[in-house]
Amino acid sequence: MTDRERAREMLARVKTRGDAKRVGTEIDRLDDRNLRLALVEEGRARGAELPDEAVGWPGKRLVRRALARDGEAQVRRNPIAVDESFACGHCGREVPPGGRTARNHCPFCLYSLHVDVVPGDRAADCGGLLAPVGASFAHDTWTLVHRCERCGAERRVRALLDVDVPDDMTALREVAARG
Ligand SMILES: [Zn+2]
Ligand SMILES: [Zn+2]
Repeated sequence: MTDRERAREMLARVKTRGDAKRVGTEIDRLDDRNLRLALVEEGRARGAELPDEAVGWPGKRLVRRALARDGEAQVRRNPIAVDESFACGHCGREVPPGGRTARNHCPFCLYSLHVDVVPGDRAADCGGLLAPVGASFAHDTWTLVHRCERCGAERRVRALLDVDVPDDMTALREVAARG
């Protein structure tokens, strides 16, 4: 395991303030500068504001800041719905923004990309193509099931139908018939 992987593993264990304290204590006890450097790097990669001197901070503070648990950094760690045009990684067509609702998949082929909304979580490292493997209609809503072609992760998203360029109904029905 590299130091960066150790740092990632430690941060992944922090779900509560109590965890931050426990992991922080562990970091202080280990007294490993390379691990601390890796925590700073990992935190920065996740968008946290970490000055160089953070390497010498108490473990708990380092962990909490690396996870951007405080202040402005917290805001940036939260999901940001980006609604921009993009070229589909599968069919290559230019996808216009959703408008009222942020678009997270191609309306033509229904593929998406495995880049999660919370920057820095494990999924964000994947970048694989999410293939539409199922679709269902219930309660007036079409739900699309995506499976990542790289890591196999599955997720469900709402189909986007009430926008200027809606999801292709024929494609949706085909996926529904397949899945
Ligand atoms: Zn496409
Ligand atoms: Zn993936």
